[in-house]
Amino acid sequence: DEPLLEVENLQKHFPVNKGLIDDLRVRLTGAEKEYVHAVDEISFDLYPGEALGIAGESGCGKTTTGMTLTKLHEPTGGSIQFRGKDITELDEEDLMEFRQNVQMIFQDPFESINPRMTIYDTLAEPLEIHDISNKRARVARALEFAELKPPEQYFEKYPHELSGGERQRVAIARAIILDPDFIVADEPVSMLDVSLRAGVLSLLEQMTDEFGLSIVYISHDLSLLRHMCDRIAIMYMGKIVEIGPTEEIIDNPKHPYTQSLINAVPVPDPEMGRERVELEGEVGDAVKIPTGCRFKGRCSEYVGEVCDQVVPSLNQKSDIEGDRRVACHLYESDEESDPEVALERD
Ligand code: SF4
Repeated sequence: DEPLLEVENLQKHFPVNKGLIDDLRVRLTGAEKEYVHAVDEISFDLYPGEALGIAGESGCGKTTTGMTLTKLHEPTGGSIQFRGKDITELDEEDLMEFRQNVQMIFQDPFESINPRMTIYDTLAEPLEIHDISNKRARVARALEFAELKPPEQYFEKYPHELSGGERQRVAIARAIILDPDFIVADEPVSMLDVSLRAGVLSLLEQMTDEFGLSIVYISHDLSLLRHMCDRIAIMYMGKIVEIGPTEEIIDNPKHPYTQSLINAVPVPDPEMGRERVELEGEVGDAVKIPTGCRFKGRCSEYVGEVCDQVVPSLNQKSDIEGDRRVACHLYESDEESDPEVALERD
């Protein structure tokens, strides 16, 4: 099978906005402008029908990755190919096709649903944009699929008249109405009441099975990804530090960061009805990127100079079998992790 999506060395940096005076200082003194390294040279493929999970703490670049894949952000480096075409270089016709084929479901359905539009108009709008006929029947079918029944009862309602779970179902109906091939779901249940999550998750599963679409599923919750995904990528400070088949990642994590994520118990936040993962120490500064391994300040396995000086590569030859890749010096051959050899190579 050809991959649906090929991501190569994808990078998204945002300029740090410190205001006019700082801009002036940069211009007058020639000082370097600072950037947040939200996503830093990540690469992976996604195959038709595949579900890939992206996990990591908040601020590790998961959402920026999702938004770049769906072209809501433009990358600052690297490339994303969708069906063999670079998505930054699409002509108008290909761009329309891309917009039809690629959809995003957000954590907060209010981000994707206009509060001033009825549910019917919300769902009919994409059909209008793409000049697709038979709107009424299509809207009804999408609502029915999302188990908002009978659909006609929802046509004239506004988002505020629905529960949080119903709103997320509307967002799902809107995502599938154009019959896409690829969906990014960014924490789609984390704002829902715990009692509603299972229903929305099984709807998402049904959606991928029934329409054979590929999905990138972003979540801090590995137990949820275990259930939903074929493969999992772990991100830390803008980089993928480990990627592989779900069972291997969960049952036998290799990267020290993956190990601590798996051992972390999600902390409930009763006020928000949400959970967070909390690890010891803080995610490093995404502006002043440290030398060597980005996880070194929190790593219990730290092996010295090589961790301090040499960026561990995900593409390195490691002694781990199968499809798994790990960016950590612990898994390199002796020669590769020899600081002198590694520094020279770098
Ligand atoms: Fe820890 Fe070194 Fe591996 Fe980084 S490269 S995760 S510091 S052992």
